[in-house]
Amino acid sequence: MGISRILIANRGEIALRIHRAAHEMGIETVAVHSTADADAMHVRLADHAVCIGPPAAKDSYLNMAAIISAAEITHADAIHPGYGFLSENAQFAEIVEAHGITWIGPKPEHIRTMGDKVEAKRTAGKLGLPLVPGSDGAVSDPVAAAKIAEEIGYPVIIKAASGGGGRGMKVCNGPEQLETLIQQAGSEAKAAFGDATVYIEKYLGNPRHIEFQVFGDGKGNAIHLGERDCSLQRRHQKVLEEAPSPVIATQERDRMGGIVAKAMADMGYRGAGTIEFLWENGEFYFIEMNTRLQVEHPVTEAITGVDLVREQIRIADGKPLSVAQADLEFKGHAIECRINAEDPWNFTPSPGAITAYHPAGGMHVRVDSGLYSGYRIPPYYDSMIAKLIVYGRTREGCIMRLKRALEEMVIDGVKTSIPLHQTLICEPDFIHGDYTIKWLEEWLAGRDTAQ
Ligand code: ADP
Repeated sequence: MGISRILIANRGEIALRIHRAAHEMGIETVAVHSTADADAMHVRLADHAVCIGPPAAKDSYLNMAAIISAAEITHADAIHPGYGFLSENAQFAEIVEAHGITWIGPKPEHIRTMGDKVEAKRTAGKLGLPLVPGSDGAVSDPVAAAKIAEEIGYPVIIKAASGGGGRGMKVCNGPEQLETLIQQAGSEAKAAFGDATVYIEKYLGNPRHIEFQVFGDGKGNAIHLGERDCSLQRRHQKVLEEAPSPVIATQERDRMGGIVAKAMADMGYRGAGTIEFLWENGEFYFIEMNTRLQVEHPVTEAITGVDLVREQIRIADGKPLSVAQADLEFKGHAIECRINAEDPWNFTPSPGAITAYHPAGGMHVRVDSGLYSGYRIPPYYDSMIAKLIVYGRTREGCIMRLKRALEEMVIDGVKTSIPLHQTLICEPDFIHGDYTIKWLEEWLAGRDTAQ
């Protein structure tokens, strides 16, 4: 029969993104929303809409029972979780499937394995991915921990097995701090994630964050769609992403891409995934895998011409991958700016009413956003309100077009991060592609002292 009506268990730009892919495939959509999102664009455009609860995410977008009920009453035959919220919740995926509804995502057991960072690292190692040197599994005994840290060499980083969003990490510079920091990391992890398990790995001093997009059909076939460079981060949150990475040569992409695609094929992975690496002195080190679509997926779409959401839907529907590795070409360059409703320099959130909105346009300019004039940004959710994605035949051309597009964007009524992006992309280091995961915070700190 095939999928004919998708319930979109998300909000904002990604809900709209999924709606668009579905409609282009002739598939109907069901929007679910909290009371705070009744006027959202994805709710207006969807074929059906169901209110699933009050503003707090735990009562609405994380409310599994309400979402399943909404799918049943609207006869949705598939659920797309987007990113965040329930997208990496293996139990939710199982419940969806137990209700005879198609889960547009990876197999629940793969979500579970990759959601536990200790398990993920062990699995990645078995599949032949290069790892950051570290403890083989969890550490609890201080004597054993000290021995491991000595072997890999200081500084080391203590990470929570259930960590996420950059939380639950501690850098340790020498043996005298180790025991205290392990205890601290453990109790913080317990408080934040309900799991005190921690592990240790080598702390890389100045790496780049480079991630590979992968796709599997769940039957042993898999491809990679190249890498994205997401090194420009603030507090471990990505700010601007680009594809390809300015530092990865074609040969290196083919080699590492081949390794990740083979790993996914061996695993029998289904759907979209991202393998995240730190990259230093020409070496890749696996840090984690995200078993979902990423915010920054459009830069990959721009350089490959593949619609990743369409691909997710096709695979969930039991169809084969629409493109073979040999047919994939990486052409040109793409950059995404995440536009947040916040002060561009001190980052305090700036929710409120949009008094005027004019998205940038023109050749090779894409704006993914649920904004419109008169829309009121609710204070309850993530501050990202738009993504500007620009393509060019060369990186230089792409940056010139990005400058032009940022000039054109009008979002009035709230503060946005547009001025940050405008300043950032004029920096010589950015123009030369010469930056690491430390660069943005150091640059911001330098601006603060200069003022
Ligand atoms: P999370 O799931 O919380 O995002 P990750 O393991 O993906 O955690 O790490 C988030 C960020 O933390 C990385 O992008 C990098 O900036 C930093 N980081 C993680 N592991 C290391 C390491 N071994 N050395 C240096 N930095 C690290």
